Amino acid sequence: MSGNALPSTPLDRTIGVMATSQSLPIIMPDLGDQRWSCHSCGDCCRSLVGHLFDEDRIRLDEQGWRDRLDVAPYVRVGRGWALNKRDDGACVFLDADNRCRIHSEFDESAKPLACRIFPFFVRAVPEGWQVSLRFDCPSVTSSKGRPIRQQRAGIRRIVRNLNHATPKDSQAPMLADRSRATVEELDLLWSRLRRWLDDSTIEPQTRWLGLARLAHTLSELKLTDVRGVRFGELLDLLVGALGSEDSIEAPTALQQGMLRQLVFAHAEHVTMHERRAGFLSKFKLRRRQLSTAGRFRRGRGPVPTLPGFEGDTTFRDVEAIAELESDRGPVADLMQRYLTARIEGQSICGAGYYGWSVFGGLSALCLAMASIGWLARLSAALDKRDRFTFEDVARALRVVDRAATRLPALGSVAERARVTYLLRDDGIVRLVAHYSILGARP
Ligand code: SF4
Repeated sequence: MSGNALPSTPLDRTIGVMATSQSLPIIMPDLGDQRWSCHSCGDCCRSLVGHLFDEDRIRLDEQGWRDRLDVAPYVRVGRGWALNKRDDGACVFLDADNRCRIHSEFDESAKPLACRIFPFFVRAVPEGWQVSLRFDCPSVTSSKGRPIRQQRAGIRRIVRNLNHATPKDSQAPMLADRSRATVEELDLLWSRLRRWLDDSTIEPQTRWLGLARLAHTLSELKLTDVRGVRFGELLDLLVGALGSEDSIEAPTALQQGMLRQLVFAHAEHVTMHERRAGFLSKFKLRRRQLSTAGRFRRGRGPVPTLPGFEGDTTFRDVEAIAELESDRGPVADLMQRYLTARIEGQSICGAGYYGWSVFGGLSALCLAMASIGWLARLSAALDKRDRFTFEDVARALRVVDRAATRLPALGSVAERARVTYLLRDDGIVRLVAHYSILGARP
């Protein structure tokens, strides 16, 4: 991997640096012809916080940056350390040509671990290293560069000196907050979801709505006596019953308000300097956040400005945009890659997603789809267009996926309560249908 990569994710911190693990399998999701190479846009170096391991700091000190930069190379963030940022949010190592100075003056292996691994993330699982892909990099959404299936060796080089802390059974995700899933049950679930998502005889929108319907149904069931092989049989039954639904009611005003609040949580950007600010500044920030979240919930008048979504539009104008402008193929392909990466990369639940239960995490993924649909419409409305495009969807997806891997608030009790509430009255299914990424509302 090359270029300027600067990730920040709790998932990265699940890797400790100690013993070797050279022989363990690298488990990559099958994303078809998905490609990625760094094209030095500098986006990750500006928008993400690069958390550091002790070994990263030692290496930066040995490289002598303290004497060569006009600011500290790294600073405290919470209980850890992170690469320092300039006032405009850029990493202190990013030069005027969007190149990483550590990479240019030394080599790629001299960079902090988090920068080298982005846009992949890696997690220790009993079978080896589970790899997934982040979609907050423009080269990933546009699938530009080398096929990722050829990048296994590069990932192996990065993880070879890492400690493989195999998760204990007690860390397995809950099925629906009541009992832990077994490895076999998770395998059954991933394979059935994958088969459903890959079924090209079914319209993409129907497949995505089917995911939401499945999440809804599974969350309601008591599975105490339906475990192991019987769980697989139940999944077959439920997936077999999925299909196009005659009509889906529009979401209620309350459901729409809750989704808009979630969009705000995804899109709002708290800078590293704001995170490090004193109590008073944090208090003011929190007050501002609550006030803006309230405006998103009410959904009246002008849409408050979100980072990266500057301009004037109203909530009414966003709602008026229903259609996708261009060919549906590229959008369907993008969403298929994204959903597969999240599901097969196991980054929707347990240690892969803030400790969420399997069905809760699947529901949260469906809400992420609806959020992408809403943000794509906002992007078009700000540009004074009456239809949205592939670029609007890709932009929305980058914002939503950046939050999915960096925003601990998405794992909070409040967020779980939002999902629980929206599972009632078919809220999640209605929202996925209403803010359809392919533009057609049933
Ligand atoms: S966002 Fe992607 S393409 Fe841009 S600098 Fe980072 S890794 Fe490279």
